[in-house]
Amino acid sequence: MGGRGSGSWYRWGGRKTNTESQKQIDIRWLKQQGYLQTGSMGSLSWSCRGEATGSITYSMIEEGMLLNYRYRKNGGEWEPVEQRILFDRTRCNYGGNRTWFLCPRCGKRVVVLYGAGKLFLCRHCYDLTYRSQQEGVVDRMMRKQWKIRERLGASDALVDPILFKPKGMHQKTFDRLRNEESRASYLSALIMGQRLGINIEW
Ligand SMILES: [Zn+2]
Repeated sequence: MGGRGSGSWYRWGGRKTNTESQKQIDIRWLKQQGYLQTGSMGSLSWSCRGEATGSITYSMIEEGMLLNYRYRKNGGEWEPVEQRILFDRTRCNYGGNRTWFLCPRCGKRVVVLYGAGKLFLCRHCYDLTYRSQQEGVVDRMMRKQWKIRERLGASDALVDPILFKPKGMHQKTFDRLRNEESRASYLSALIMGQRLGINIEW
């Protein structure tokens, strides 16, 4: 089984590995890409310096997602793994709602799960550190997007385009806000994409 202490490959020199080197799934990224709808299916793959390090397929179900992949420990036999991960939703006070993973082991609400062992679990369960500074930027950018979208009366789904100028708003103000929104979107997608080293295949 995965979990703390199982397989020592994710530790290096006795120090905690930065989570950037891990296979990870960020629910904010899935949401931003519009992949969270029930029935949506696809695969996620990870690579490190151009070399494939793993891939999984996912399908969205009513209350969460199913992951399917193969896992082997220390060069042993490959075994098929199916993992069900439940979601939780909370409302944001700045509009929109936020979807969380419930860590399959500890039940904590988290936005990123790590495939550091057999299962995808939260960083607490795998005892990983992460770059909180970058996390902070992503959160700030997404909050900014929601704030602007609320002001413009646009959908809180971050993938939806902002089409309509609210009545009475100057065109200049509208253009500026829309530009700010798309810059924030670009920046958070860039950081998340870089951090995850993720490629999407369909
Ligand atoms: Zn956990």
